[in-house]
Amino acid sequence: MTYTVSDIAELFRHHLVLSIDDETADALLRQLVSEIAGMATTPLWRRAEWVFCDRCGTSIDTIPIHPDGHHHWDDGDFHRVDCWGKLG
Ligand SMILES: [Zn+2]
Repeated sequence: MTYTVSDIAELFRHHLVLSIDDETADALLRQLVSEIAGMATTPLWRRAEWVFCDRCGTSIDTIPIHPDGHHHWDDGDFHRVDCWGKLG
């Protein structure tokens, strides 16, 4: 029988969360998350990195920025897509 992630999460909820007090459940969930994270072949988390649009000041997560530096002017300024190409 194959279990879905939701099935497994429900097992955790039933056996780890609902059957014991909140403090103990939280401690066990922390341990469980740590052990599950150890199973991953690549890091599950990354440091958040942001740049600020040099035109309007909006902060932008660096993940969606094109790796070739698209939207960076030659002088190094960055403009988000809605501000790209607007002069003055
Ligand atoms: Zn902008």
